[in-house]
Amino acid sequence: MAIFRQRALNEASAHDVRRFYDEDGPVSNYFGLNVLDLDKMRNYMSQEAYEAVLASVRYGAKLDRGLSNEIAAGMMTWAMEMGATHYTHLFQPLTDSTAEKHEAFISFKNGEAFEKFNGSALVQQEPDASSFPNGGLRNTFEARGYSAWDPSSPVFIMDGTLCIPSVFVSYTGEALDTKVPNLKSLHALSEAAASVVNLFDESVKAVKVNLGIEQEYFVVDESLYNARMDLRMTGRTVIGHTSAKDQQLEDHYFGAIPSRVSSFMKDFETEAYKLGILLKTRHNEVAPNQFECAPVYCDAIKAIDQNMMLMIVMQKVAERHHLKVILHEKPFNGVNGSGKHCNWSIVTDTGVNLLSPGKTPTKNLQFLSFYASVLKAVHRHHYLLMATVATLGNSYRLGGDEAPPAVMSVFSGSTLYEVFSSIMEMDEVNESETSALESIKIVNSIPEIFPDNTDRNRTSPFAFTGNRFEFRAVGASQNVATSVYVLNSIVAESLREFRAEVDALEAAGEERAAAVMTVVRRFITESRDIMFEGNGYSREWEQEAQRRGLRPIVNVAQAYEVYNEPQTVELFDKVGVLAPNEVEARFEILNETYVKKLQIEARVIGDMCLNHVIPAAVRYQNVLIENIKGLKDIFGDAYMNYCASEIETLKQISSYINRISSDVQLLVEARKKANRIEEIAERAKVYSLEVKGMMDKVRISADNLEMLIDDEMWPLPKYRELLFF
Ligand code: ADP
Ligand code: MG
Repeated sequence: MAIFRQRALNEASAHDVRRFYDEDGPVSNYFGLNVLDLDKMRNYMSQEAYEAVLASVRYGAKLDRGLSNEIAAGMMTWAMEMGATHYTHLFQPLTDSTAEKHEAFISFKNGEAFEKFNGSALVQQEPDASSFPNGGLRNTFEARGYSAWDPSSPVFIMDGTLCIPSVFVSYTGEALDTKVPNLKSLHALSEAAASVVNLFDESVKAVKVNLGIEQEYFVVDESLYNARMDLRMTGRTVIGHTSAKDQQLEDHYFGAIPSRVSSFMKDFETEAYKLGILLKTRHNEVAPNQFECAPVYCDAIKAIDQNMMLMIVMQKVAERHHLKVILHEKPFNGVNGSGKHCNWSIVTDTGVNLLSPGKTPTKNLQFLSFYASVLKAVHRHHYLLMATVATLGNSYRLGGDEAPPAVMSVFSGSTLYEVFSSIMEMDEVNESETSALESIKIVNSIPEIFPDNTDRNRTSPFAFTGNRFEFRAVGASQNVATSVYVLNSIVAESLREFRAEVDALEAAGEERAAAVMTVVRRFITESRDIMFEGNGYSREWEQEAQRRGLRPIVNVAQAYEVYNEPQTVELFDKVGVLAPNEVEARFEILNETYVKKLQIEARVIGDMCLNHVIPAAVRYQNVLIENIKGLKDIFGDAYMNYCASEIETLKQISSYINRISSDVQLLVEARKKANRIEEIAERAKVYSLEVKGMMDKVRISADNLEMLIDDEMWPLPKYRELLFF
């Protein structure tokens, strides 16, 4: 067998099942061990300093400089007790990953070494960050960007380093990360939602978002992974024929977890628990070697921070097991890809989930107000919301009959859908007072709305699941922050309008309940087109969605145009989440990232074909030629009777070799042509159509060759070897 593949397979079979962590006793014994929470902090600083931290956690109060020195010193003492030697600001730049730059506590003065961590280092750092994506917001000559401690997330220790969750902004104050807009969107949503709740309950002052993020991923053996340059460079297989058996028997979903993976899971869970990550669920997913884990939901910022940490922890712990965690959305053709489901709900400071249908008519009215506002928001900005998941990786998955369709819709479940239908059926043309009262009667007649929790629709990108919405289209490798701040922003906008319309009706003399009901009905009626209860994978829905004016994401580069649309720019500006130049910067960065990733994939597939596939094909051709020559020696002119199939195979192989060579050439030319285009969005479009199109063609030939060539000679680990433990 090809030496490289053989070695990888030998190594893989020698990797055994091991546990590296044997923490004592139940999880509660070590849960949060590596996190400096408020309780612990109290032991490391004066009451005054502790209260300053508390105020900044709770109300965003600014820290006094003197106190920040004391706080930093306290943090360092704790970190050193825990064995840490370094600290870092940890932020979330516009790359879907986290960034860190470690500094040692150790300092030197007059030949003496001592540990030091002062307040200014805690509060602010200036990473020379000109090489982070900034979309023109910061020129390379003005390299300064600030990372600043975000006290609302606790500091923690990972890998002997004190990690300080931070925001990242440019010298001139623009957000260069996903956290700043997210914090702003939460603020906007809180205000808007509180103003609507206040129609029913004056005591509510603030509203927060809860998130539960389900994470899907693949696990493969490290040696096999390393033997494939495509996996190493791009996170997915750019060539590779499907395995005879993959997921068709539906025997993997919820099946017994393979022991190597199970011991890896237990280990990464241990590490995650020490970081205070609220992991709760683990199971096999649909595709072979695909798995899922899910934490218990919590506050949005914390949930996102923890998901980012979780991805790091999983990858680190996997190394010890000689495994690789693949977070790419579509690592293998022909089997399901991986997503990250975002369960989103909003809850008041008095503990009421506003997306939980109530036990009383008033509560139902409040629930309907929020539901209707979400519907309106998702309807109006359906394309923007979907565009937040438009990445190169996710584009291989979305709309593929295994993942949410590429067009947005909202699934409500039959109980609620019936309620909405009867509300809409009331006189819509003439919004007279009687019709509002009529629809209140409908609400009054349902003492408690019981959405059927078993009423699930896996084909819907945005599904109501009883007390929350589940946005199911986010890609597995993405930072969900962008989807979340867009969702928060559009709902904030819609809630503001809700309140304003109710106020206007009340001012015109309408009673509150009737006014609320009128607006609920208006919102639901206006957004009826976003509601869809049927099969999102069907052809009929594709056509129906088009008829309703719902725009599908057909091309990633084209989807980014939504950031230039006035409706988008106005939205972000109005809710105070992103200024127009910040939106523009994101547009640039998205296109740039898309182009760069596709460029890497295109290079990788070209190299693999020229350096791996064609040489293997030629080698096998020679074997066939030798064989045919031998048969001719023995049988003379009658040889054709004995080698018709070898000759046929030889011809096929030759034709695929020729096709691959010329297609790779065309691929290179397509790339060169695209690279000459100055304007990034244009370049992205040419990449998405021409470069990607050529890659698909190359792949077909390569995958056909894989089927023709002697298995012993094929140099790359095959799907059947990668996908089954
Ligand atoms: P499923 O795969 O059936 O959707 P999981 O248990 O895998 O269910 O994931 C459900 C996720 O939704 C969990 O993270 C859970 O904590 C979260 N969740 C449950 N209730 C809420 C809520 N009210 N708000 C936000 N997230 C929630
Ligand atoms: Mg799940």
